[in-house]
Amino acid sequence: MKRITLAILLLSLTAMIFNGDTLAQKKQTKPQQVAAASAAKPESKWAAEYGNVEGITAKQISEYLYFVASDEMEGRDTPSRGLDLTAKFIGLNLSKWGFKPAGTDGTFFQKIPLRRTQVLGEQSSAAVNGQSFKYGEDFYASPAAGEVAGQLVFVGHGLMVKAKNIDYYKGIDVKDKIMVVVDGAPAGVNFNDYRGKVGEDFHRPETYARAKGARGIIVIPSASTLSFWDQRVKSSLNPTRAMPDTGRPMNNVPTIIASEKMVNAILQGEKIDFETIRKQVSEGKLSESFDLSPSKTASFKVGSKVETMMTQNVVAIFEGGDPALKDEYVAIGAHYDHVGIGQADSKGDKIFNGADDDGSGTVAVLSIAEALSHGPRPKRSILFVWHCGEEKGLWGSEFVTENPPVPLKQIITQLNIDMIGRSKAAGDTKPANANLSGPNDIYVIGSKMMSTQLGELSESVNKGFLNLGFSYKYDDPNDRERFFYRSDHFNYAKKGIPIIFYFDGVHEDYHRQSDHPDKIDYAKMEKVTRTVFATMWKLANDPSRPKVDKPLPAQLAGF
Ligand SMILES: [Zn+2]
Repeated sequence: MKRITLAILLLSLTAMIFNGDTLAQKKQTKPQQVAAASAAKPESKWAAEYGNVEGITAKQISEYLYFVASDEMEGRDTPSRGLDLTAKFIGLNLSKWGFKPAGTDGTFFQKIPLRRTQVLGEQSSAAVNGQSFKYGEDFYASPAAGEVAGQLVFVGHGLMVKAKNIDYYKGIDVKDKIMVVVDGAPAGVNFNDYRGKVGEDFHRPETYARAKGARGIIVIPSASTLSFWDQRVKSSLNPTRAMPDTGRPMNNVPTIIASEKMVNAILQGEKIDFETIRKQVSEGKLSESFDLSPSKTASFKVGSKVETMMTQNVVAIFEGGDPALKDEYVAIGAHYDHVGIGQADSKGDKIFNGADDDGSGTVAVLSIAEALSHGPRPKRSILFVWHCGEEKGLWGSEFVTENPPVPLKQIITQLNIDMIGRSKAAGDTKPANANLSGPNDIYVIGSKMMSTQLGELSESVNKGFLNLGFSYKYDDPNDRERFFYRSDHFNYAKKGIPIIFYFDGVHEDYHRQSDHPDKIDYAKMEKVTRTVFATMWKLANDPSRPKVDKPLPAQLAGF
């Protein structure tokens, strides 16, 4: 089928919504197992206990997933057209099902401002003792705009690492000066050394400059930077990736990377030259810091432009029916973004469809919303949030928990679904699928961490319902995979809201172009999604809310 234009897509999107035909499915064969799983069902035996839990079907889920994870959604990067289209698709359904918008200006979309910066070479300049230098030829800049001038102080690699007894700032004062930093780090220093507290356990050049009032940084390049100079200059002129616009001034320290010619001008007449520095770096023993001659000054200006753009969470409320309890909320969510378009794989496929990650959660939550709107009303209200920017760093959940549509203290629990669509086939010995859960199993993370009651409720609902295999393998706060930190529930937990995270485990298509909807186990998804619905239903109707009786384990609370 030929690539469709946006207008045709929206037209057929509306057609799909109103008469149930699915676009993507015309393109791809309908998985037989889906049809089998959703054959007509006798009258529901669960309705009395769990409301319209059987309103959730594998057929429904698959139709939504084939759309959300179709190539046309272009991998739903944040921000992107595919993400916006997916948001519109979810919003259209929510309004059809009578949900209350909880986003910006009475819409379902909680607007999140993003900004990105771009260095402007033609508006950037540099000089040392009156000798001027040209952008690209003699220096390039990191994307922090600014104009600085002042004396120079050499600070070696510009690091302080308490654990390794490294401190290039001993005995020198960088205030109101420009720090000259040698790119790189002494042997043995790695990213683990930057995990503690800034200023206490470690300092990097930019953190020290900011803390101690240095005006700017000039970097003496490493050998690899010099050998890739042209590429580095070229990419320095690309816009940075968009970041949430916190409205706070970007207090990045203006920084330029000097060419050999400019380094020689800086070190002219000083007690060390570039050659010696390179030799010392290769021997891992860079000499101590010192002030350059006070008569020498440097100045540079980095010109840049800031571009702002918008993205959004999709936020909706299904109001509870009990006057006393409807002001309390069960929050349920997933991330509807993925990583977009990237390198082509061996099949030439560039689109990261993200069917499991997290298309599965996105449509599971959508199916829960649909079932809820076609059944009895729970006592408490349900807050639905489809988060954006999860892949970029939990942006959407950070934003919604910093700007909550309802008071955080009235959210009794958050249920997070991130990857529930894959199952390990019998006899699958692929190492990449070693930790993938089976067709009747799911990893449950965090349910017992903050509230004994919540852990027990989750267990008893499951035992009394579909009795899936709940694995708590990743519930260990010391687990090196650190899944507790790696999805949106984490931002709710940080706010003291008890959470349950449902996850199927990493597999061979995780963050690959091949994470496609035809690899999803829809029968499993139906079971897990129904189990989450039943848990939500129980939480929304129980007389009391789960008590938070355990603090987050220290390892988890530190971040
Ligand atoms: Zn994910």
